[in-house]
Amino acid sequence: MTSPIGLLGGTFDPIHAGHLRTAIQAQEQLGLSEVRLLPNHIPPHRATPDSAPRHRLAMARLAAAATPGLTVDERELNRTTPSYTIDTLMELRRELGRRPLCFIMGMDSFCSLDRWHRWQELLDQAHLVVSHRPGWQPEFNDAVNELFQRHGTRDRERIHRAPAGHIFLLDNPELDVSSTQIRDCIRNGNNPQYLLPDAVTDYIRQQGLYTGSVV
Ligand code: ATP
Repeated sequence: MTSPIGLLGGTFDPIHAGHLRTAIQAQEQLGLSEVRLLPNHIPPHRATPDSAPRHRLAMARLAAAATPGLTVDERELNRTTPSYTIDTLMELRRELGRRPLCFIMGMDSFCSLDRWHRWQELLDQAHLVVSHRPGWQPEFNDAVNELFQRHGTRDRERIHRAPAGHIFLLDNPELDVSSTQIRDCIRNGNNPQYLLPDAVTDYIRQQGLYTGSVV
């Protein structure tokens, strides 16, 4: 079986060091052949993003161009319906056959997994790879805990041998960075340097993103 492919879904409004370090740590710890960034169009679990899909896509592309092993997959942006992860994974599964797929997410997302659309089917299509995030302990509610007890593994070989079905916690340094924090920083006229790639900061400045008041 060929090396697993990583998928990192997000609103990326804007993309930042927390996303990018997570992608790199997953790639290195699990030997992923690539990590595809999947900007979502209409996020099902949160408010409408501040910036238009074309800006979030442009920023993801700039970040991917600056990071070896990262690519951007636009499929969710091309849909007019909510970006349900299960739909995306099923589509990718049809394209990629039995190749292992690793859907990567932060601990905050994993803790509320049982609120995701058809969450019990996600592991039929992919492995779940979870990165630690400040403020979020691996303390799960009963439903998520039961899933973790049944599917959790620390063995990277199992991720390579099966197309889907395991949950792997990354061993990653926690970076206290969020898109909200960066939007606030820019709105307040402060410098977000080192929280995100310089090329993305330049793009935000050129396009005048995140300067308006919050509605
Ligand atoms: P916002 O502040 O707007 O809510 P965010 O910073 O959480 O955004 P998203 O685009 O919503 O960014 O996150 C996409 C994915 O990346 C999610 O699975 C999230 O848990 C994960 N993620 C975001 N920031 C970090 C971080 N600092 N460390 C680890 N994972 C992160």
